[in-house]
Amino acid sequence: MDTEGIDIALFDMDGSLADYDGAMVRDLESLRAPDEPTVSRESLWQTETGEHVLARMKLIKGQPGWWLNLDPIPAGMTVLALCQQLGFDVHVLTKGPKRHSQAWDEKVQWCQRHIGPDVDIHVTSDKGLVYGKLLYDDYPDYMIRWLKHRPRGLGIMPVSAANRDFVHPNVVKWDGTNIAEVARAVAVVKKRNPGEALAL
Ligand SMILES: [Mg+2]
Repeated sequence: MDTEGIDIALFDMDGSLADYDGAMVRDLESLRAPDEPTVSRESLWQTETGEHVLARMKLIKGQPGWWLNLDPIPAGMTVLALCQQLGFDVHVLTKGPKRHSQAWDEKVQWCQRHIGPDVDIHVTSDKGLVYGKLLYDDYPDYMIRWLKHRPRGLGIMPVSAANRDFVHPNVVKWDGTNIAEVARAVAVVKKRNPGEALAL
């Protein structure tokens, strides 16, 4: 792929642009037995370890329309709009469940509905393979994997309970209050020439 002159900003979907956690917490709560502990955004990632919970989650995610009806996350959409304003070509980079092609289809429809009909979407099992100048992602493992081959790439990470302690020199944490810091970092990586170090 000839990427000269094209500045691509990659955006993760679940937990970044689309409110997977909010919908999952709501639906797990509706299936919870009275003697089970409540599920919250803060505790979801710890709840996910129980076999019975995983089975419920599988049923929840398999419902037609579940992925399509996830709410957009305003903080993520704000940074997406910022990147578009600064001249980035926004692409979506999402992990595709290998056995549920219905989820792929709904993710594509979601992006067309909330971002635009012509948005480029990469559904992959390895985010490290995909080129971009910056990656917006809430999940540290995917961020590390992508940055491993891109020492001059910029990561922007919306803060959540699960990634609160994550620190990386190329990553700006976005907590909903520091838009000036995020905008500055995006402008720096936009102006950076090929081969130039990332000076945040
Ligand atoms: Mg995510």
